Amino acid sequence: MSKGSIYNCPHCGAKSFNPVTKAMAGGLNSKGRVCKACGRRCCNGQVSTVVNAVVYVIALIGVICFYFVIDNNLLAYALMAGCILGAFLICKIFDAFFMPLTKVIRNDVSS
Ligand SMILES: [Zn+2]
Repeated sequence: MSKGSIYNCPHCGAKSFNPVTKAMAGGLNSKGRVCKACGRRCCNGQVSTVVNAVVYVIALIGVICFYFVIDNNLLAYALMAGCILGAFLICKIFDAFFMPLTKVIRNDVSS
């Protein structure tokens, strides 16, 4: 695989995505993002969806731990917010730089 190929459209092969647009394309259960070259929808694949789910589960466990372990409410809330924000960022960074795009499989989205 050549460098940058994860930003190629899975429909037409054009390099029509960049880290930002790829991160915003979402996962398999999203509507994806339209390719500039062919107009069809692309999204991040199954690995991205699984990684997102795992990251959020870990963040949720972190949130629950902070809630019960830390007595200082303000600190606990700050750490809980940090967990959610961190999970969100990790997911976006993963989507932006790892794993190729795939075709949107939702059949309720017209392409
Ligand atoms: Zn395309």
